[in-house]
Amino acid sequence: MRLVLVPTPIGHLEDITLRALRVLKEAEVVACEDTRRTGVLLRHYGIPTPTLRLDQHTVGRARELLSPYTYVAYATDAGTPGISDPGAELVRLALEWGWRVEALPGPTALIPALVASGLPTRRFTFEGFLPKAGKERKERLLALAREGRTAVLYESPHRLRKTLEDLMEVYGPAHPVAVARELSKVHEEVFRGSLQEAWAHFLEPRGEFVLVLGPKEAPPVAAEALLDELKAQGLSGKALFRALLQRGVPRNEAYRLSLEEG
Ligand code: SAM
Repeated sequence: MRLVLVPTPIGHLEDITLRALRVLKEAEVVACEDTRRTGVLLRHYGIPTPTLRLDQHTVGRARELLSPYTYVAYATDAGTPGISDPGAELVRLALEWGWRVEALPGPTALIPALVASGLPTRRFTFEGFLPKAGKERKERLLALAREGRTAVLYESPHRLRKTLEDLMEVYGPAHPVAVARELSKVHEEVFRGSLQEAWAHFLEPRGEFVLVLGPKEAPPVAAEALLDELKAQGLSGKALFRALLQRGVPRNEAYRLSLEEG
């Protein structure tokens, strides 16, 4: 029994490897999140392999659905199966059944967004979709900021502005971010700037988004010492306030310190 995870294009249909096309041809069935969407890809490349729907609602019945087959290719809507989609659950199950699981290298949204961001790539953390609301969301945001690494997030267009607002609270409005939109598609755009600027830029977000946040420096042990350092650099007023925020001083503390010096 063989399950091969096949990464598919995140936009541009040419972003698929020769090996992926061969596996899609050779497999007995292509299990996929959306048969219409994967059908477009298969038709584009003249691949006649039948498809079978296996999405987040049906993945629990995967064993029964896949039982007639010995060689299954699995594709999700776009990108690499297993990254923020039902692929991870299918892999867990397939390993439980003793299947051989292979993952082909290929397209995913997080890597092009990260490398095009211009932010540090040596150490990064992938967060995927944040919890939608509540305590868990707040805790995850704080934990992310404490990590001190570049962070990559997925977000839907209708939640983008709210997420930028929440990120501003934790990271400060001047924190560097890259917002990658519609990667590899006609309207591809990578916006690079501060969280505040991104918020002002994406007034009516449309399309698919990846957010890349620069690493947040660990909060200074002594804000007073940092204050002396920044004053010695000639900073005052708003510039001092912004610099304090950028160096991890909490907003109200930065405000107080910069006022005192104003
Ligand atoms: N498995 C996929 C991968 O490897 O990237 C991710 C699946 S997840 C359900 C879908 C999310 O990926 C979107 O909401 C968006 O955040 C991101 N995404 C997918 N395609 C994208 C694209 N062309 N441009 C920007 N973001 C994209």
